[in-house]
Parts: sequence; structure tokens; C-alpha cells
Amino acid sequence: MNHKIKKFDYIVIGAGSAGSVIASRLTENAGNSVLLVEAGKSEHPFARMPMSFGLFINKPGVNWRYQSEPESATANRNIPIPRGKMVGGSSSINGLVYVRGQSLDYDTWAQYGNKGWSWEEVSKVFKKIEGYEDAIDDYRGTSGPLGISELSDKNPLYEALFKSAESLGYIRNKDYNGPNQEGIARIQATIRNGRRMSTNYCYLRPAEKRGNLNVITEAQAQKLLVKDKKCYGIIYKINNEVFHVHSNKEVILSAGAIASPQILELSGIGNPKILMKNEIEVLHDLPAVGENFQDHFMARIQYKLKLREASYNHKGRGLNKLGEIIKYVSSGKGLFSMPAASVIAFLKTNQNIENPNIQIQFIPFSVESLRKRVFHNFPGMAAACYQLRPNSLGSIHISSNNPNDYPSIKFNFFNDETDKKTLIDAVKIMRSIVEAEPMNHIRDHEYSPGKLVSSDIEIEEFIRENAETGFHPSGTCRMGPGSNTVVDDRLKVHGINGLRVADASIFPTIPSGNTNAACIMVGEKASEFIKSDNI
Ligand SMILES: Cc1cc2nc3c(=O)[nH]c(=O)nc-3n(C[C@H](O)[C@H](O)[C@H](O)COP(=O)(O)OP(=O)(O)OC[C@H]3O[C@@H](n4cnc5c(N)ncnc54)[C@H](O)[C@@H]3O)c2cc1C
Repeated sequence: MNHKIKKFDYIVIGAGSAGSVIASRLTENAGNSVLLVEAGKSEHPFARMPMSFGLFINKPGVNWRYQSEPESATANRNIPIPRGKMVGGSSSINGLVYVRGQSLDYDTWAQYGNKGWSWEEVSKVFKKIEGYEDAIDDYRGTSGPLGISELSDKNPLYEALFKSAESLGYIRNKDYNGPNQEGIARIQATIRNGRRMSTNYCYLRPAEKRGNLNVITEAQAQKLLVKDKKCYGIIYKINNEVFHVHSNKEVILSAGAIASPQILELSGIGNPKILMKNEIEVLHDLPAVGENFQDHFMARIQYKLKLREASYNHKGRGLNKLGEIIKYVSSGKGLFSMPAASVIAFLKTNQNIENPNIQIQFIPFSVESLRKRVFHNFPGMAAACYQLRPNSLGSIHISSNNPNDYPSIKFNFFNDETDKKTLIDAVKIMRSIVEAEPMNHIRDHEYSPGKLVSSDIEIEEFIRENAETGFHPSGTCRMGPGSNTVVDDRLKVHGINGLRVADASIFPTIPSGNTNAACIMVGEKASEFIKSDNI
């Protein structure tokens, strides 16, 4: 783009799940000029290949690779927090599992005083988003921009898992994104014809031909320009060159749940104590910035299998791997067309609860290390679980006034007794499904952590020492009417004109499931608000 153009109607910071949707929708009106500022590069050439999530999980250049502060409840570990750093944001590196969440999530948001966010209202938006080929009723969308399909590979593991779950009284669910989330099901993935459906591909690319969309990459927003409680532009940097750009109408901050509160604080909007400690002039006192941080705390176990064809480990090693690459390139099929998991279950740890409170994902391969993602040299599978709506709240705040310094991220995981019990119970349920009779001809034994970890105390220790994030940071610019919130229900920052936040940071509570769909929904809602407020 021509950096001499200094003024746009709208400036969107961050081309991720939400930001790409907003830039695309706003440019539908040919009269709007839109600048989309992205810190990462254009989408990586391998991003369209679904299995790239393994390649990108710890890869510099396409991933911010944040990590949490050491905390005693999680054995003083620095837990890695991958976040996409390229056009498409985290939707270009994620595990592709498509989950809307529960009606309870959005009805709770509405109950907190957020008009327009009830399930009845947001489900229409999910339907508009979805291009779901395998829809079984009109509850789901079939003609939306986001390609989604049900996983179709044939593997004896899946039927055995369904039968195991059913033998324990859990139900099989044909569509966990339908009226009822509960039960075990095949994964629905943001994949079509073997290709990843990122928001770059599904939203931005179709908008590229519009002359009013300006995307700049490798441009890191440094701060917002704010005067007299109005945001009128931003400062961004490319290499070491600094650019100022102004907005005629609005700035929309969509840098994700970690960078959005960071950018607000760097701009003098936040808790005065934190701003002053970091020698930042306080322009607007908003103490909720960076608070209410939520994520899914995920425990993972791995099994050795005796039925070779139930595991894809052999396909990901040696000459077979080469064969799989050729298969993918020639037909879009095989191992490299797979999402991060194949079977999903939303279950209750306690039958007195009305809605599922845990999620389990079953994966037809196992790896030596989560960072390196090298498949085991024996047939294996993995299963991972988390509590859907944890009580523990953490925080994300700047650690200095330098935009290049990563913020201080405190999960505060496992500091709540209900959270602890729920996750321990989830591990037990996950094990019970893999160990039930219908899995006998497939399962060999639990490889990690293994049966030495069996009592509640042992499971608790295992979780403290090994569980990681489910990759869903949320809530740090919470939406709502109260003093513990950052934006109102039209996503406008309280007390500042010309500025909205729209990404995972605005979730009042973390949705019950993987969060990409909810971020895209937030992007769609934000676009509607902006369009109707600026007629
Ligand atoms: C490894 C991984 C696996 C996941 N698996 C799944 C899954 O299977 N299913 C699912 O539903 N969800 C999954 N998620 C979560 C989901 O992808 C995210 O919740 C969602 O993409 C977040 O959207 P967002 O718009 O809030 O932020 P993002 O998509 O992260 O976008 C933020 C964008 O802002 C840019 N940015 C940040 N700072 C600046 C700055 N200063 N200047 C300019 N640009 C900036 C970033 O580079 C990024 O492109 C996963 C996430 C990860 C990381």
C-alpha cells in the first residue's frame, strides 16, 4: 500500500479470525476506505494444508510463541501459548475443530446485560457464517463463507470409541453444533476439499479485488492515537520506520486476547496503577483492561495401540510420510488433510449438571513431544480433555512500555476447587472410554502418563506438571455494562469515542468449546454494529 495515504475511514488492527471478517464486511460498502494492519506476513504457503497446525505450533515467524509466567499451581512452568502471526491470525495455524459453543454461553452473556448476544440472536450469525456441507437440517448454515465439513476418513478407532462411550451410557450425537451439544461425535472441521478454511481465505481473499481494502503486513501497531477521549488513529512500525495513520470514523482493535489489552495499555487506557508503573501517561482510567483472562486448561494422555491401522503414526514417518505428502498434493487426501482431532465428546462429570461441562478430543496419532510433534514409532493415539467453563480467572498486563516486550500472562489455572475436581474427573472419564470393552481389540495400554498415575492426588499432580493451554485465551477486554468490563454490547470501549475491540478478548465468559467460530461470530457482529452506527 501507499504509506503516504494518511487517512482511512476505518483502521482494523490484526488480520486474524475477527479482524479479517471485519475488514472484509466493511469493504462491501464501496464508499468505505479500510486499512487492515497485520504484524505478521501474508499467509504461509503451507497454511492451507490442515496438518500445518503441527508444523506451526512452535514456529518462529508465523507464531508469536508467548508463554505464561511461572505459577505455583502449575508447577512453576512457563506454559507455551501459540498465537498466529500472519494474515488469518490464529485461524491460519489452529487445529481446525469447528465448535459453536452452547446456548448457555451466549444466554449468559445476554444475562450479564449484553443486548443482542443471546443464543437466539447469535445462532443466526453462526448460520450465516457456515458453509457446512454435511448439514442434516436447517439449524445449520450451508451457504456461508466459512467452509466446514465432517471428517470422512475411515478408521476402526472411531466406531470403537463411539461404542465404548455408548457402553458407558454416553450418547452419540450426529451434530454437536445442533440444538444439543452433548454426546460423542465425529469432528466438524474448517476444511473443504482437503484445504484449511482460514478467515484469510474465506473472507479476505474474496474482498481483495475491492479497491477500498488496503492490507499491510509486517506492520506492528505500536499504540492508538487518543486525544480528549477520542481515538483518531494509530501508530504502526514497519522494520524501524514509524507511520502515523488517521481514521475518519473508527479504529477497531482485533489483535487477539493477548495483544488487544496490551495495545490499550500501551496507549494509556487501563488501570492507572499498571500504566504509571510502566511510565505510561494515563489517558483513560479503565481498570478492567487485561483482567478476566480465561482459557481451557488441557490434560492429555497417550495410548499404545495393538491395531496398526487404527493409528496414523506409521503414515507420518519415513518413506510413508513422503507417500502421504504426494497423496496430499495430488488428491488433497490422507494424513496431511487431517484436523487436530477426529472424535469429540461433550460430557457431564456429574449427572446433576444440566449442560456438558467437559470436552474430550480423541486423536488417531501420538507424538514424542508436543513441541516437536514427531510421531511415535509404534501405533498410538492420544486423548485430551478440558473443563468447558472454568472459574479460575487470570490476567494479562504489559511488562514495560516497549511494544516489543511481551506482556506478563498469568493463567491462574487450577486455583479453584471445582476446576480441580472437574479436570480430574474429566481425565478419569477420558480413560474410561478408551479402556471400555469395545476398545479391547484396538487398545494396548496407556503409554503416558501410565497407570502409576491413578489416585486423585496423582492425577492432580500430573495435571499440575503437564497440562497445557487448549489455545483459547479469552476475556481480557470483557464486554458488559459494569465497572469490571472494557467494551459495551456494541463493542465500543467505555468512555472513548471512535474505538471498538472485536476479538476473543471481548468474551464475557469463555465459550464451551474451541473458540474460532465465536471469534468469527464476533467479527460479523462488530461489522453489523459499525455499519448501522455509521450510516
Ligand atoms: C495452536 C492453536 C490451535 C487452535 N485450535 C483451534 C481449533 O481447533 N478450533 C477452534 O475453534 N479454535 C482453535 N484455536 C483458537 C482460535 O483459533 C482462536 O480463538 C481465534 O483464532 C482467535 O481469533 P482472534 O481474532 O481473537 O485473534 P487472532 O486470530 O489471533 O488474530 C489476531 C491478529 O492480530 C495480529 N496482531 C497482534 N498484535 C498486533 C499488532 N501489534 N499489530 C498488528 N497486528 C497484530 C496477530 O498477528 C494476528 O494475526 C486454536 C488456536 C491456536 C493458536
